[in-house]
Amino acid sequence: MNTPVRSVAPDASRFIPIERRTKIVATIGPASKDPEVLRRMIDAGVDVARLNFSHGTPEEHAESVDLVRDAANAVGRPVAVLGDLPGPKLRVSKLENDLVQLERGRELTLSTEIEPGRLGTARHLYLEAPQLAEAVAPGEVLYLADGKLRLRVTATRPEHGEIDASVEVGGPLASRQGLNVPGEASVLPAVGNDDIELLRAGERMRIDLVALSFVRSAEDVNNVRKETRLPLISKIEKPQAVDRQDEIIAASDLIMVARGDLGVELPIEYMPIVQKRLLRAAGRLARPSITATQMLDSMVTSSRPTRAEATDVANAILDGTDAVMLSQETAVGAYPVEAVAMLDAIARATEPEAPYREWNSERVTRAKVGPDYTVAHAACEAVRTLGLDALVVPTLSGRTARILSAHRPTVPILALSPGQETVRRCGTYWGVKASSIDRHATTEGLIADATRRVIELGWCTPGMRVGVTAGLPSAKPGSTSLLQVMVLGEAGAPWQDWSG
Ligand code: PEP
Repeated sequence: MNTPVRSVAPDASRFIPIERRTKIVATIGPASKDPEVLRRMIDAGVDVARLNFSHGTPEEHAESVDLVRDAANAVGRPVAVLGDLPGPKLRVSKLENDLVQLERGRELTLSTEIEPGRLGTARHLYLEAPQLAEAVAPGEVLYLADGKLRLRVTATRPEHGEIDASVEVGGPLASRQGLNVPGEASVLPAVGNDDIELLRAGERMRIDLVALSFVRSAEDVNNVRKETRLPLISKIEKPQAVDRQDEIIAASDLIMVARGDLGVELPIEYMPIVQKRLLRAAGRLARPSITATQMLDSMVTSSRPTRAEATDVANAILDGTDAVMLSQETAVGAYPVEAVAMLDAIARATEPEAPYREWNSERVTRAKVGPDYTVAHAACEAVRTLGLDALVVPTLSGRTARILSAHRPTVPILALSPGQETVRRCGTYWGVKASSIDRHATTEGLIADATRRVIELGWCTPGMRVGVTAGLPSAKPGSTSLLQVMVLGEAGAPWQDWSG
């Protein structure tokens, strides 16, 4: 169902049918590497392709970047590429026959160094986590396999790098599955040398955004900021990060509510409230947010989601997420195109119910001051009181589009940038449709070209009423300070005509 939201323009026959405003992130994997499947996924609505650097080699990821770029060109839609760094994710080594059965009540030993050639068994597991035996204490809980299995530490021998534990909740464990240590705070660097090497590889393959796993503080983010100019997405997946959500969000360019690990490390009953708080805090600070993991999990094997999953996606949108993300569904699932189409359909059905008008004035904290915040706030007001059809936003870095998006205007945000990276990165901002424009030395030249370009792109028609943001001087990022209200193609149309 494609329900266009009518603008409040006096001439009711003239409106822009609003496309989906929530953005879609899809993880690329074996199920989506076929060029035809990828093309159909992008056609169905993918805005951001996520490469999970926890799996595969840099060469394989470089190949995926090329495939995404080719498919996006073929479809004619900008698609950003997000490289997701593994962070200090602990994983058990290879196991005998790649699968062991842990039985409730049995004791096992965890060695915190992998011994070459030794395979893990139900009695002895290996993982690479020097110092872990020092960091945990008897009585603490460890989770395996996304929280499905639970161990309780019974003894530690740091001098031998060993931990003894009893199995409290048993079940199958596969090679390379993850181990979560909910209490562990500082035993491993959030972004270690391996991650930095992967980040460099990502830069060489020209990814557009990078996600940092297991961030615990603003310092973790600031340390990576010194290493790269890529926009940083902090994955919130540790209780410590939830406790420090505001400082981490403020230090980041975007956040991801990484519910896979977060749902293991936090008591799962807190997950819904923590999600709501994180999305609200990101909105207050005008940082885009991605809600991730198990959104349509049953579509890994089924052509339709469960009712609960469809409702979960809708609720994330009503909580104010900018983007919703697919992981297994598109990486290894049997229905990658259908899963993207399903997110698209749920978003379109849900968005007309979201309280965007309330959010216009309340969502971003009024404590955030600066000309661009004031212009964004005024633009939403102008949309409402003057019945504008769209906001036209020339932007160098994407900052003005991001801040406007955070206010959730009820009309499309049409971003135009001379930078292809900026155009693609707008794929993470709610409600922003982006394309390219030439650079302009003067503000007048920029406004004239931007208003011409939105007609050329078929996004607007002459006679539509738009607000155009701009800055003086025009060629400097972050200089947005003006809002011009105008009738497209009718420069100088008299003000009186507007009141209808
Ligand atoms: C998550 O934990 O939800 C997540 C997105 O991270 P990963 O897939 O890297 O575990």
